[in-house]
Amino acid sequence: MNTEHEYEIGCYFDASFGFQHNAERIIDFAMDEHNYVPQYEAENGDHIEALCWELESVEEFLNEVTKRPEGSFWCWNDGDFGLWFACTHCGELIDENKCNICEEE
Ligand SMILES: [Zn+2]
Repeated sequence: MNTEHEYEIGCYFDASFGFQHNAERIIDFAMDEHNYVPQYEAENGDHIEALCWELESVEEFLNEVTKRPEGSFWCWNDGDFGLWFACTHCGELIDENKCNICEEE
């Protein structure tokens, strides 16, 4: 376990590896690095629906337990899964601290 490590912004699981393969790697990552306990018994990827629930749970979990730059969140971006800055108001991914959607004024 390595809870003190601060993660850097970026793509951790590239979409080109395929959804199911990535899903399994993401769950393994959460289990191996942060002692995540699977909620839906979907580690083997047999059930796509359970796998999706599991991933939502993992995403929430990683955002709770990992140390990361302020304003960044674990999330999906065009099929990639990684750590990016996101708007705390609308959830939209942003480049720095500015959200194009919320900062219309
Ligand atoms: Zn916003």
